[in-house]
Amino acid sequence: MTKFENKSFSVAMTGKEHFTWCKCIMCRKKKGRAMEERINQIISDNAGVNIKEVKPDQRLIDDLGCDSLDTVELIMALEDEYEIAIPDVDSEKIKTVGEIHEYMKTRVTTSGSGPMM
Ligand SMILES: [Zn+2]
Repeated sequence: MTKFENKSFSVAMTGKEHFTWCKCIMCRKKKGRAMEERINQIISDNAGVNIKEVKPDQRLIDDLGCDSLDTVELIMALEDEYEIAIPDVDSEKIKTVGEIHEYMKTRVTTSGSGPMM
């Protein structure tokens, strides 16, 4: 598999790094799923629930039992993990696990670390 890779491309873009930066549909889908799993792990750590209970339609506060401090810590953990800044106006709109997935995908896949200050 590695033999097939274009040399100049593979210098910086081998394996994981190709996967990280590639915007092809297959990598985006794979990355999306991996990202959802990572986010679910972060949510389960912060909410203190089993990762199996973390589903897209679950609401952080009503279903997973987060309080406002848990959600703030969750947002901070996501900011750390993906090296982005999530403004309050955005985090206040996020109520469910699925909304976190969607939000993080738009923030992380379209702009890398993003133009946000
Ligand atoms: Zn790709």
